[in-house]
Amino acid sequence: MDRSTAGFDQLTRFWLDTAPARGVVTRLDESLMRSLADHCYPEPVKSMLRQMTGACVMLASNLKQPATIVMQVQGSGAVPLMCVEATQALTFRAYANVREDAVIPADSTLSAMVDPASAGRFVLTIDPEVGQMYQSIVAMEDTSVAKILEGYLINSQQTDTRVWLREDGEAIEAAILERLPDRHEGEDFKRWLAMAALMDDTFAQPFMPFPFDEWLRMTFVGEDVRVHPAQIVSFACPCSLDRVLNALKLVGIDELLPIADEEGEIKTQCEFCGARYVVSRSQLLSLFTRADAGDSSSARTLH
Ligand SMILES: [Zn+2]
Repeated sequence: MDRSTAGFDQLTRFWLDTAPARGVVTRLDESLMRSLADHCYPEPVKSMLRQMTGACVMLASNLKQPATIVMQVQGSGAVPLMCVEATQALTFRAYANVREDAVIPADSTLSAMVDPASAGRFVLTIDPEVGQMYQSIVAMEDTSVAKILEGYLINSQQTDTRVWLREDGEAIEAAILERLPDRHEGEDFKRWLAMAALMDDTFAQPFMPFPFDEWLRMTFVGEDVRVHPAQIVSFACPCSLDRVLNALKLVGIDELLPIADEEGEIKTQCEFCGARYVVSRSQLLSLFTRADAGDSSSARTLH
């Protein structure tokens, strides 16, 4: 079975009409490796970024309009920030801020890395291309990405929701199951619990990368499962020279000019993909003096 048939770097949505419930499942491997390839993060940090990516991509698949979901965990520990962004088009990027002197044991939990004093925060931002940004912040009371996301979804959607996440080497498999409104008073709750238990059973077994429709029918044996065609999930970073120039405008000439005077240019690097951008002193001056700040003729991108 090749990677594509096995559903790697894909996501699919499904409905259990008889439960009633709906869900989403994704498997990521090469896209994750590409997104982390240029970073030298300790393995526990990579593991958390993989899990956050699975979670964030599933949330993004539920967006009703073009938007980006930004998922962050923040604290004052050895890893004060981990950040994953995913778009409605199912592209994602990820990075972590790891303190230089950090010692991160192989068995570190999320809260141990981000904030050992348990004062860490989970911040979820929905940034639509058109319209208002929406942000919610919750205390990081649970130690696993799956449990944090589950708590967030139950609170925000006011419906029973379960989240499963597991890793197999550098691959990840993640799923969400959400209960839909009852149609038969009382009976449907038992059905919901039964469906969640079936998913528990599947995730308790060894990683099985069968095609999604086969995998879902094996999980929910005898149930009527409607499966959407799978969508591709990929790593992509939208950073660009124009965005760098816009960011420099926000920093201001007073802060930037002394650096440009000393070094002849301003160098920046994208924290997500590692792309390096160089803005010359003359370009910097024209950025702040000309109305046409979009001219980037003397700036260049290095890869
Ligand atoms: Zn980038």
